[in-house]
Amino acid sequence: MTAGGEPVLETEGLGLTIGGARILSGIDLRVARGELVGVIGPNGAGKTTLFNLVSGIYRPTSGRVLLDGRDVTSASVAVRARAGLGRTFQTSSLFPRLTVAENVRLATQRRRGGSLSVLRFPRRGDDASAEAAQHLATVGLTHRADAAAGDLSHGDKRKLEIAVLLAMDSSVVLLDEPMAGVATGDVAGLVEVIRSIGASGRTVLMVEHHMDVVLGLADRVAVLHHGELLTCDVPEKVMADDTVQSAYLGTTAGTTAGSRAGTTAGTTAGSAA
Ligand code: ADP
Ligand code: MG
Repeated sequence: MTAGGEPVLETEGLGLTIGGARILSGIDLRVARGELVGVIGPNGAGKTTLFNLVSGIYRPTSGRVLLDGRDVTSASVAVRARAGLGRTFQTSSLFPRLTVAENVRLATQRRRGGSLSVLRFPRRGDDASAEAAQHLATVGLTHRADAAAGDLSHGDKRKLEIAVLLAMDSSVVLLDEPMAGVATGDVAGLVEVIRSIGASGRTVLMVEHHMDVVLGLADRVAVLHHGELLTCDVPEKVMADDTVQSAYLGTTAGTTAGSRAGTTAGTTAGSAA
């Protein structure tokens, strides 16, 4: 269940039970440095919960999370972030009234342990600003540097969130549905940005419903279903897997999975990368 190389992120028997309900159980995942792993599964399968457990927002009721071989199961979100773990959310976490450049500069300052005060913002031309400009160039937002973050399109907001993670120097990046709400015309640009952060040696885990995006980007695909990890393998094998076919693509799945799978299966057939 792993690609070659040192695992940068591992979960061992990871599980979460809330009020007697098993949300996730027995998740064994090993992600190698520089890998891009897609996480798929029907709505309610536990994808966001997995990200919450890995990033430290939730504490597991069983199992462990290891980052660079270090047990971080009981470490706070902040400690994990400093250890290089960054994530985006299904909904945006930007400062909407600040400019695009300011959002990135704040992240740079935060990483450097500097002040978070907007009043003590570094001026243009200093190190933090130069670095911010570099990250904005990486995600293709240089031309929007002075726009208010809240005025960006969905696609550009997602790019800005990724620039913020780059500014925080996250080596492992968790993206929860980066294409959600993004206009069709912006998808290709965002795919290229995600591909480039993967190519920069960073490790990426990405929950994504657009199957063509997942299959085009991912080195491996993890499939969650009813809180369990069905498989984690190269895209071709996952798509050929009978269990995945019946569980995820809806041959025997319930209504939620079935209706969701109807659209995703169509997408795959129509535009596999
Ligand atoms: P996905 O992201 O795959 O759509 P989630 O991880 O958001 O799924 O949710 C998985 C299941 O866990 C859902 O049934 C959801 O209602 C439940 N769940 C998630 N968080 C909590 C919580 N804090 N308390 C109770 N149930 C939760
Ligand atoms: Mg989710």
